[in-house]
Amino acid sequence: MECIFCKIISGQIPATIIAESLNYIAIKDINPVAPIHILIIPKEHVEKAGELKNYEGDVLKELFILVDEIVNTENLSEEGYRLIVNTGKNAGQEVPHLHWHLLGGRKLGKLG
Ligand code: 5GP
Ligand code: ZN
Repeated sequence: MECIFCKIISGQIPATIIAESLNYIAIKDINPVAPIHILIIPKEHVEKAGELKNYEGDVLKELFILVDEIVNTENLSEEGYRLIVNTGKNAGQEVPHLHWHLLGGRKLGKLG
């Protein structure tokens, strides 16, 4: 198994865990670009956002329940935050295991 996020999920390499649910884990990004930079990662190895079409509705709902939980514990609700997915080369995806970046704690620039 070469995937760095699979290694984090299996406990082979350490990470700061922020929250966890049945199908997802949320960790601190090792190289944060904002005061709050959390990665929300499906425990199953999927690469592309489009593969989520195979997820049952409840598994997607579980993701947003976890996001909402983190938003509340990190006090991001009032000031706002950004949730992004990079898929593929043009988006600059470095780790080929799908993940959401949750960014907050400062005014974020425009996308693109
Ligand atoms: P991508 O560019 O694929 O959307 O984002 C990958 C993210 O994973 C980057 O923000 C990078 O800092 C983060 N990252 C890469 N390796 C590790 C690691 O070993 N531990 C943690 N916590 N984050 C990592
Ligand atoms: Zn993986």
